[in-house]
Amino acid sequence: MLAQDLRAFGLRIYFMIGALLCAGATLLILVGLYMAFKIWLSERRQKHSYAEYYARTRRADGKMYPPRSGGICELCGRVRTVVYHLPTHEHICADCYEPHWRRQEGWVDPPEPERPTWRTLVRRLRGCHERSSET
Ligand SMILES: [Zn+2]
Repeated sequence: MLAQDLRAFGLRIYFMIGALLCAGATLLILVGLYMAFKIWLSERRQKHSYAEYYARTRRADGKMYPPRSGGICELCGRVRTVVYHLPTHEHICADCYEPHWRRQEGWVDPPEPERPTWRTLVRRLRGCHERSSET
């Protein structure tokens, strides 16, 4: 009788240890998934933040905008919150600066990249195949 009780007690202890191990493993997996999700979210926000910063501080050709402050534009004569101070000591507002630097440096916006269609993809693949068969 006592031996049977002890055996049942031992089985319950084993069951409890197994259940605790399963619960611990499940908890670890859930915490890992939560952390992976938070890391993914953080990296996504950081990427968006960098893109926004880059777009705000760089011209279309990738160069930095000159230092800026509020003031009066020398080209249009209006009071603006953003006036760029050029190295040539000119003070030009954002609206006048864009065409100004493009005209000065002869910048032409690059054409939009062509979106690949099935036909262009097949042509590219055929071109690669022909090139590899020639050699
Ligand atoms: Zn202006």
